[in-house]
Amino acid sequence: MRENHMKKILITGGAGFIGSHVVRLFVNQYSDKYHVFNLDALTYAGNLENLKDIEQASNYTFVKGDIRDAAFLNDLFLEHDFYGVIHLAAESHVDRSITDPMAFVLTNVVGTVNLLNAAKTAWKGGYNNHRFYHVSTDEVYGELHNPDEFFLETTKYDPRSPYSASKAASDHFVRAYGNTYKMQVVLSNCSNNYGPNHFPEKLIPLMINNIMHNKPLPVYGKGENVRDWLYVIDHARAIDTVFHQGINGETYNIGGFNEWKNIDLVKMLCRIMDEKLDREVGTSEQLIAYVTDRAGHDLRYAIDATKLKDELGWLPSLQFEEGLEKTVDWYLH
Ligand code: NAD
Repeated sequence: MRENHMKKILITGGAGFIGSHVVRLFVNQYSDKYHVFNLDALTYAGNLENLKDIEQASNYTFVKGDIRDAAFLNDLFLEHDFYGVIHLAAESHVDRSITDPMAFVLTNVVGTVNLLNAAKTAWKGGYNNHRFYHVSTDEVYGELHNPDEFFLETTKYDPRSPYSASKAASDHFVRAYGNTYKMQVVLSNCSNNYGPNHFPEKLIPLMINNIMHNKPLPVYGKGENVRDWLYVIDHARAIDTVFHQGINGETYNIGGFNEWKNIDLVKMLCRIMDEKLDREVGTSEQLIAYVTDRAGHDLRYAIDATKLKDELGWLPSLQFEEGLEKTVDWYLH
Protein backbone atom coordinates (compact mmCIF):
# COMPACT_ATOMS: atom_id res chain seq x y z
CA MET A 1 0.00 0.00 0.00
CA ARG A 2 2.73 2.38 1.09
CA GLU A 3 4.39 2.02 -2.32
CA ASN A 4 1.41 3.66 -4.02
CA HIS A 5 2.33 6.92 -2.33
CA MET A 6 5.96 6.72 -3.28
CA LYS A 7 7.27 8.91 -6.06
CA LYS A 8 9.28 7.17 -8.76
CA ILE A 9 12.63 8.65 -9.64
CA LEU A 10 14.95 7.56 -12.41
CA ILE A 11 18.69 7.63 -11.78
CA THR A 12 20.75 6.92 -14.89
CA GLY A 13 24.26 5.46 -14.66
CA GLY A 14 23.55 4.14 -11.18
CA ALA A 15 25.88 1.16 -11.54
CA GLY A 16 28.86 3.46 -12.12
CA PHE A 17 31.19 5.14 -9.68
CA ILE A 18 29.23 8.23 -8.58
CA GLY A 19 25.81 6.87 -9.57
CA SER A 20 26.12 3.90 -7.22
CA HIS A 21 26.63 6.24 -4.26
CA VAL A 22 23.70 8.41 -5.34
CA VAL A 23 21.43 5.36 -5.73
CA ARG A 24 22.45 4.03 -2.29
CA LEU A 25 21.85 7.40 -0.64
CA PHE A 26 18.38 7.83 -2.20
CA VAL A 27 17.30 4.21 -1.54
CA ASN A 28 18.37 4.36 2.12
CA GLN A 29 17.55 7.94 3.00
CA TYR A 30 14.16 8.13 1.26
CA SER A 31 12.86 4.60 1.81
CA ASP A 32 9.35 5.93 2.51
CA LYS A 33 9.37 8.64 -0.16
CA TYR A 34 10.96 7.40 -3.37
CA HIS A 35 11.07 4.26 -5.43
CA VAL A 36 14.44 4.45 -7.16
CA PHE A 37 14.82 3.09 -10.70
CA ASN A 38 18.45 2.64 -11.66
CA LEU A 39 18.84 2.67 -15.45
CA ASP A 40 22.24 1.52 -16.64
CA ALA A 41 23.60 -0.17 -19.78
CA LEU A 42 26.33 -1.89 -17.73
CA THR A 43 29.21 -0.83 -19.96
CA TYR A 44 32.76 -1.64 -18.84
CA ALA A 45 32.30 1.11 -16.19
CA GLY A 46 29.06 -0.22 -14.67
CA ASN A 47 29.13 -2.89 -12.00
CA LEU A 48 26.12 -4.12 -10.03
CA GLU A 49 28.49 -5.37 -7.31
CA ASN A 50 28.63 -1.69 -6.34
CA LEU A 51 25.03 -2.02 -5.15
CA LYS A 52 24.98 -5.50 -3.58
CA ASP A 53 23.96 -4.11 -0.19
CA ILE A 54 20.75 -2.50 -1.46
CA GLU A 55 19.74 -4.71 -4.38
CA GLN A 56 16.96 -6.36 -2.33
CA ALA A 57 15.50 -3.10 -1.02
CA SER A 58 11.76 -2.84 -1.66
CA ASN A 59 12.12 0.70 -3.04
CA TYR A 60 14.80 -0.21 -5.60
CA THR A 61 14.53 -1.53 -9.17
CA PHE A 62 17.36 -2.06 -11.64
CA VAL A 63 16.58 -1.57 -15.33
CA LYS A 64 19.18 -2.61 -17.87
CA GLY A 65 18.95 -0.26 -20.83
CA ASP A 66 20.78 2.13 -23.08
CA ILE A 67 20.11 5.86 -23.22
CA ARG A 68 21.15 5.82 -26.89
CA ASP A 69 17.91 3.87 -27.56
CA ALA A 70 15.17 6.51 -27.86
CA ALA A 71 12.30 4.04 -28.36
CA PHE A 72 13.27 2.12 -25.23
CA LEU A 73 13.37 5.36 -23.19
CA ASN A 74 9.99 6.52 -24.48
CA ASP A 75 8.40 3.21 -23.45
CA LEU A 76 10.05 3.34 -20.03
CA PHE A 77 8.76 6.85 -19.35
CA LEU A 78 5.27 5.93 -20.50
CA GLU A 79 5.25 2.83 -18.31
CA HIS A 80 6.38 4.70 -15.18
CA ASP A 81 5.22 8.12 -14.19
CA PHE A 82 8.65 9.32 -13.08
CA TYR A 83 8.55 12.33 -10.80
CA GLY A 84 12.19 13.18 -11.44
CA VAL A 85 15.33 12.22 -13.30
CA ILE A 86 18.90 12.38 -11.99
CA HIS A 87 21.06 11.87 -15.05
CA LEU A 88 24.59 10.54 -14.52
CA ALA A 89 24.97 7.94 -17.30
CA ALA A 90 27.90 8.92 -19.47
CA GLU A 91 31.13 7.92 -21.07
CA SER A 92 33.45 9.52 -18.54
CA HIS A 93 37.11 8.80 -19.24
CA VAL A 94 39.06 11.56 -21.05
CA ASP A 95 41.68 9.19 -22.49
CA ARG A 96 38.97 7.03 -24.06
CA SER A 97 37.38 10.17 -25.56
CA ILE A 98 40.65 10.93 -27.33
CA THR A 99 40.69 7.53 -29.04
CA ASP A 100 36.93 7.25 -29.68
CA PRO A 101 35.16 10.65 -29.63
CA MET A 102 32.02 9.35 -31.35
CA ALA A 103 31.18 7.04 -28.44
CA PHE A 104 31.05 10.20 -26.30
CA VAL A 105 28.83 12.05 -28.77
CA LEU A 106 26.39 9.14 -28.88
CA THR A 107 26.03 8.52 -25.16
CA ASN A 108 26.68 11.96 -23.68
CA VAL A 109 24.98 14.15 -26.27
CA VAL A 110 22.46 11.98 -28.15
CA GLY A 111 21.68 9.93 -25.02
CA THR A 112 20.95 13.08 -23.01
CA VAL A 113 18.69 14.49 -25.73
CA ASN A 114 16.87 11.13 -25.95
CA LEU A 115 16.26 11.34 -22.20
CA LEU A 116 15.04 14.93 -22.40
CA ASN A 117 12.67 14.00 -25.23
CA ALA A 118 11.29 10.99 -23.37
CA ALA A 119 10.66 13.18 -20.29
CA LYS A 120 9.11 15.93 -22.42
CA THR A 121 6.71 13.51 -24.12
CA ALA A 122 5.71 11.72 -20.92
CA TRP A 123 5.36 14.84 -18.77
CA LYS A 124 3.20 16.57 -21.41
CA GLY A 125 4.00 20.07 -20.29
CA GLY A 126 3.08 19.41 -16.64
CA TYR A 127 6.61 20.39 -15.77
CA ASN A 128 5.91 21.97 -12.40
CA ASN A 129 5.44 18.50 -10.94
CA HIS A 130 8.66 17.14 -12.37
CA ARG A 131 12.38 17.82 -12.21
CA PHE A 132 15.22 16.93 -14.59
CA TYR A 133 18.65 17.07 -12.94
CA HIS A 134 21.73 16.83 -15.13
CA VAL A 135 25.04 15.94 -13.45
CA SER A 136 28.04 17.43 -15.20
CA THR A 137 31.71 18.21 -14.78
CA ASP A 138 33.95 21.23 -14.16
CA GLU A 139 35.93 20.20 -17.26
CA VAL A 140 33.44 22.12 -19.44
CA TYR A 141 35.10 25.34 -18.23
CA GLY A 142 38.48 24.51 -19.76
CA GLU A 143 41.66 25.12 -17.82
CA LEU A 144 43.05 27.73 -15.42
CA HIS A 145 46.57 29.17 -15.34
CA ASN A 146 46.38 31.93 -12.73
CA PRO A 147 46.38 30.56 -9.14
CA ASP A 148 43.85 33.24 -8.09
CA GLU A 149 41.28 32.09 -10.64
CA PHE A 150 38.43 29.67 -9.93
CA PHE A 151 35.57 28.30 -11.99
CA LEU A 152 32.31 30.06 -11.19
CA GLU A 153 28.85 29.13 -12.47
CA THR A 154 29.20 32.14 -14.79
CA THR A 155 32.60 31.10 -16.21
CA LYS A 156 32.49 30.88 -20.00
CA TYR A 157 32.48 27.34 -21.38
CA ASP A 158 35.75 26.33 -23.04
CA PRO A 159 35.80 22.53 -23.35
CA ARG A 160 39.13 21.24 -24.56
CA SER A 161 38.78 17.44 -24.80
CA PRO A 162 36.20 15.38 -26.69
CA TYR A 163 34.88 14.29 -23.26
CA SER A 164 34.38 17.83 -21.96
CA ALA A 165 33.00 18.97 -25.33
CA SER A 166 30.36 16.23 -25.17
CA LYS A 167 29.45 17.17 -21.58
CA ALA A 168 29.29 20.85 -22.52
CA ALA A 169 26.94 20.04 -25.41
CA SER A 170 24.68 18.02 -23.12
CA ASP A 171 24.63 20.87 -20.56
CA HIS A 172 23.53 23.27 -23.30
CA PHE A 173 20.73 20.94 -24.40
CA VAL A 174 19.42 20.61 -20.83
CA ARG A 175 19.39 24.42 -20.39
CA ALA A 176 17.76 24.81 -23.81
CA TYR A 177 14.92 22.44 -22.82
CA GLY A 178 14.46 24.48 -19.64
CA ASN A 179 14.30 27.70 -21.61
CA THR A 180 12.35 26.55 -24.67
CA TYR A 181 9.86 24.09 -23.22
CA LYS A 182 9.89 25.40 -19.62
CA MET A 183 10.96 22.02 -18.32
CA GLN A 184 12.16 22.26 -14.67
CA VAL A 185 15.87 21.63 -15.00
CA VAL A 186 18.76 21.94 -12.61
CA LEU A 187 22.45 21.27 -13.26
CA SER A 188 25.65 20.82 -11.31
CA ASN A 189 29.27 20.86 -12.43
CA CYS A 190 31.60 18.98 -10.11
CA SER A 191 35.34 18.61 -9.69
CA ASN A 192 37.25 15.29 -9.63
CA ASN A 193 35.78 12.63 -7.38
CA TYR A 194 37.57 9.87 -5.50
CA GLY A 195 36.43 7.05 -3.22
CA PRO A 196 35.10 3.48 -3.26
CA ASN A 197 33.75 1.89 -6.49
CA HIS A 198 36.00 3.91 -8.80
CA PHE A 199 36.95 2.04 -11.98
CA PRO A 200 40.72 1.37 -11.83
CA GLU A 201 41.61 3.28 -15.01
CA LYS A 202 41.26 6.63 -13.14
CA LEU A 203 44.22 8.22 -11.34
CA ILE A 204 43.65 7.36 -7.66
CA PRO A 205 42.46 3.73 -7.99
CA LEU A 206 45.10 3.10 -10.69
CA MET A 207 47.85 4.29 -8.36
CA ILE A 208 46.51 2.30 -5.39
CA ASN A 209 46.29 -0.82 -7.53
CA ASN A 210 49.77 -0.38 -8.98
CA ILE A 211 51.34 0.34 -5.59
CA MET A 212 49.70 -2.83 -4.24
CA HIS A 213 51.18 -4.87 -7.07
CA ASN A 214 54.58 -3.10 -7.19
CA LYS A 215 53.92 -1.84 -10.72
CA PRO A 216 55.19 1.48 -12.15
CA LEU A 217 53.08 4.55 -11.27
CA PRO A 218 52.57 6.41 -14.58
CA VAL A 219 52.43 10.18 -14.00
CA TYR A 220 51.62 12.36 -17.03
CA GLY A 221 54.25 15.02 -17.95
CA LYS A 222 55.89 16.35 -14.80
CA GLY A 223 52.85 15.75 -12.60
CA GLU A 224 52.22 19.50 -12.42
CA ASN A 225 48.52 19.30 -13.35
CA VAL A 226 46.25 20.47 -10.53
CA ARG A 227 42.87 18.98 -9.71
CA ASP A 228 40.33 19.76 -6.99
CA TRP A 229 39.34 16.50 -5.28
CA LEU A 230 36.02 15.66 -3.64
CA TYR A 231 35.07 12.49 -1.74
CA VAL A 232 32.38 10.76 -3.80
CA ILE A 233 29.92 10.46 -0.90
CA ASP A 234 30.14 14.23 -0.42
CA HIS A 235 29.24 14.59 -4.11
CA ALA A 236 26.25 12.28 -3.59
CA ARG A 237 25.17 14.48 -0.63
CA ALA A 238 25.51 17.56 -2.83
CA ILE A 239 23.37 15.91 -5.53
CA ASP A 240 20.71 15.20 -2.89
CA THR A 241 20.84 18.87 -1.85
CA VAL A 242 20.64 20.25 -5.38
CA PHE A 243 17.86 17.84 -6.41
CA HIS A 244 15.70 18.89 -3.46
CA GLN A 245 16.63 22.53 -2.90
CA GLY A 246 18.16 23.75 -6.16
CA ILE A 247 16.28 26.58 -7.84
CA ASN A 248 14.70 25.78 -11.19
CA GLY A 249 17.02 26.63 -14.10
CA GLU A 250 20.06 27.15 -11.88
CA THR A 251 23.52 25.60 -12.04
CA TYR A 252 25.60 24.79 -8.97
CA ASN A 253 29.33 24.19 -8.91
CA ILE A 254 30.42 21.39 -6.57
CA GLY A 255 34.00 21.15 -5.35
CA GLY A 256 36.11 20.02 -2.45
CA PHE A 257 37.95 23.30 -1.75
CA ASN A 258 40.88 20.91 -2.08
CA GLU A 259 43.48 21.42 -4.82
CA TRP A 260 46.40 19.06 -5.36
CA LYS A 261 49.15 18.72 -7.95
CA ASN A 262 49.03 15.19 -9.36
CA ILE A 263 52.58 14.47 -8.26
CA ASP A 264 51.93 15.57 -4.65
CA LEU A 265 48.79 13.48 -4.56
CA VAL A 266 50.65 10.40 -5.84
CA LYS A 267 53.39 10.93 -3.23
CA MET A 268 50.81 11.21 -0.47
CA LEU A 269 49.19 7.96 -1.64
CA CYS A 270 52.63 6.32 -1.62
CA ARG A 271 53.15 7.39 2.00
CA ILE A 272 49.72 6.11 3.09
CA MET A 273 50.26 2.81 1.26
CA ASP A 274 53.77 2.29 2.67
CA GLU A 275 52.27 2.54 6.13
CA LYS A 276 49.29 0.27 5.37
CA LEU A 277 51.46 -2.34 3.66
CA ASP A 278 54.20 -2.20 6.31
CA ARG A 279 56.72 -1.07 3.74
CA GLU A 280 59.72 1.08 4.56
CA VAL A 281 58.88 4.77 4.09
CA GLY A 282 59.83 5.85 0.53
CA THR A 283 59.49 2.36 -1.01
CA SER A 284 56.39 3.05 -3.12
CA GLU A 285 57.63 6.46 -4.31
CA GLN A 286 60.38 4.65 -6.21
CA LEU A 287 57.66 3.24 -8.48
CA ILE A 288 56.81 6.70 -9.87
CA ALA A 289 57.44 6.81 -13.65
CA TYR A 290 56.91 10.02 -15.64
CA VAL A 291 55.22 9.33 -18.99
CA THR A 292 54.47 11.44 -22.10
CA ASP A 293 51.78 13.95 -21.30
CA ARG A 294 48.16 13.41 -22.36
CA ALA A 295 47.27 15.31 -25.58
CA GLY A 296 45.70 18.68 -24.70
CA HIS A 297 46.09 18.00 -20.95
CA ASP A 298 44.37 20.81 -19.00
CA LEU A 299 46.74 22.38 -16.46
CA ARG A 300 44.48 23.28 -13.56
CA TYR A 301 40.84 22.91 -12.57
CA ALA A 302 39.59 24.64 -9.43
CA ILE A 303 35.98 25.06 -8.44
CA ASP A 304 34.46 27.88 -6.44
CA ALA A 305 31.54 26.14 -4.70
CA THR A 306 30.50 29.20 -2.69
CA LYS A 307 27.05 29.41 -4.30
CA LEU A 308 26.17 25.88 -3.18
CA LYS A 309 27.60 26.56 0.29
CA ASP A 310 25.90 29.93 0.80
CA GLU A 311 22.57 29.33 -0.91
CA LEU A 312 21.91 25.66 -0.15
CA GLY A 313 24.14 25.11 2.90
CA TRP A 314 26.23 22.22 1.54
CA LEU A 315 29.85 21.66 2.59
CA PRO A 316 32.20 18.70 2.10
CA SER A 317 32.33 16.58 5.25
CA LEU A 318 35.74 14.89 4.91
CA GLN A 319 39.30 16.16 4.97
CA PHE A 320 41.33 14.84 2.02
CA GLU A 321 43.75 12.66 4.00
CA GLU A 322 40.86 11.06 5.87
CA GLY A 323 39.01 10.40 2.60
CA LEU A 324 42.12 8.98 0.95
CA GLU A 325 42.72 6.64 3.89
CA LYS A 326 39.14 5.40 3.67
CA THR A 327 39.57 4.90 -0.07
CA VAL A 328 42.85 3.00 0.32
CA ASP A 329 41.27 0.80 3.03
CA TRP A 330 38.35 0.03 0.71
CA TYR A 331 40.65 -1.06 -2.14
CA LEU A 332 42.87 -3.08 0.20
CA HIS A 333 39.89 -4.98 1.60
P1 NAD B 1 31.33 6.03 -14.64
O1 NAD B 1 32.01 5.89 -15.96
O2 NAD B 1 31.93 5.38 -13.44
O3 NAD B 1 29.84 5.49 -14.73
C1 NAD B 1 29.01 5.75 -15.83
C2 NAD B 1 27.84 4.79 -15.78
O4 NAD B 1 27.01 5.08 -16.91
C3 NAD B 1 28.25 3.32 -15.88
O5 NAD B 1 27.56 2.56 -14.92
C4 NAD B 1 27.84 2.93 -17.29
O6 NAD B 1 27.48 1.56 -17.40
C5 NAD B 1 26.67 3.85 -17.55
N1 NAD B 1 26.47 4.11 -18.98
C6 NAD B 1 27.44 4.47 -19.87
N2 NAD B 1 26.89 4.59 -21.10
C7 NAD B 1 25.57 4.33 -20.97
C8 NAD B 1 24.47 4.32 -21.86
N3 NAD B 1 24.63 4.56 -23.16
N4 NAD B 1 23.23 4.04 -21.38
C9 NAD B 1 23.05 3.77 -20.06
N5 NAD B 1 24.05 3.74 -19.17
C10 NAD B 1 25.30 4.03 -19.61
O7 NAD B 1 31.16 7.60 -14.44
P2 NAD B 1 31.20 8.46 -13.09
O8 NAD B 1 32.61 8.82 -12.81
O9 NAD B 1 30.38 7.79 -12.05
O10 NAD B 1 30.48 9.79 -13.59
C11 NAD B 1 29.06 9.91 -13.52
C12 NAD B 1 28.65 11.27 -14.06
O11 NAD B 1 29.27 12.30 -13.28
C13 NAD B 1 29.10 11.51 -15.49
O12 NAD B 1 28.07 12.19 -16.16
C14 NAD B 1 30.33 12.37 -15.38
O13 NAD B 1 30.47 13.22 -16.49
C15 NAD B 1 30.01 13.17 -14.12
N6 NAD B 1 31.20 13.61 -13.34
C16 NAD B 1 32.17 12.72 -12.97
C17 NAD B 1 33.25 13.15 -12.19
C18 NAD B 1 34.33 12.20 -11.70
O14 NAD B 1 35.30 12.64 -11.08
N7 NAD B 1 34.21 10.88 -11.91
C19 NAD B 1 33.34 14.48 -11.82
C20 NAD B 1 32.32 15.37 -12.22
C21 NAD B 1 31.25 14.91 -12.97
